[in-house]
Amino acid sequence: MKEKLYTIELADAVKSGDECMFCWLERKLEQENLEFALGSSYMEGDIREQTSRKGFCRYHTKKMFDYGNTLGNAWILKSRLEYVNRELRQIMGHEQPGKGGGILGHFSRADRRRAEGCSAAESWIRREEKHCYICERMEVIAGRMLDTFVYMLKNDAEFGRMLMESKGFCLHHFADVRMICEEKLKPGEKEEWIPKLGELMGKNLDRVQEDIDWLIEKYDYRNKDADWKQSKDAVPRTMQKLVGGHPADPPFKGKK
Ligand SMILES: [Zn+2]
Ligand SMILES: [Zn+2]
Repeated sequence: MKEKLYTIELADAVKSGDECMFCWLERKLEQENLEFALGSSYMEGDIREQTSRKGFCRYHTKKMFDYGNTLGNAWILKSRLEYVNRELRQIMGHEQPGKGGGILGHFSRADRRRAEGCSAAESWIRREEKHCYICERMEVIAGRMLDTFVYMLKNDAEFGRMLMESKGFCLHHFADVRMICEEKLKPGEKEEWIPKLGELMGKNLDRVQEDIDWLIEKYDYRNKDADWKQSKDAVPRTMQKLVGGHPADPPFKGKK
């Protein structure tokens, strides 16, 4: 059963003490994927075919640079550049300047009017920017982890108890949690869990609010000898609560 695939990971995540158990899982997943992409997989033809076609978003390109492995990055980039150069030339070769003719299929209807004057080259580039080899690998697993989350809410009372004692979620992942609960919980389970999850989220937003408020108070000279309480790292934790991720992390580097 695919809902049971990640029970161990979720149990670890709920115990991690992180501001968001899904941010914690996401970081682990991202590091595994960077290790995979820049391990030795790039020498396998079918993997490099995929990285050439999908490319990498700006965010993950930076992560790959930080990871290191110059030769590995060079192989991946060489193939991606060959692909981009070939495709773009072909598209530009078929363009009729001044006539628009962008590839409109991927635009929503609302965007279509705006896109009508858009060139095929622009349209192709915009579409290329929307996909990323690492983002896509992560999305598949993240979806299964959300399924596992619901499975554990339903079947594992200890997980539910630990969750209520955890620091909850960042805003981004709380939306994912609410989505999957709407989709997969039965009406009775929703009655139990939706208010509980709301309470968990509200309580932890209050806690982080107190920390960031106190951090500012601490800069008042009258408080210079007062205790920092939990506020020393309130900036990165508030950033995480609001947008997800771990801004204070050092760059993730490959083992030499
Ligand atoms: Zn999160
Ligand atoms: Zn990405």
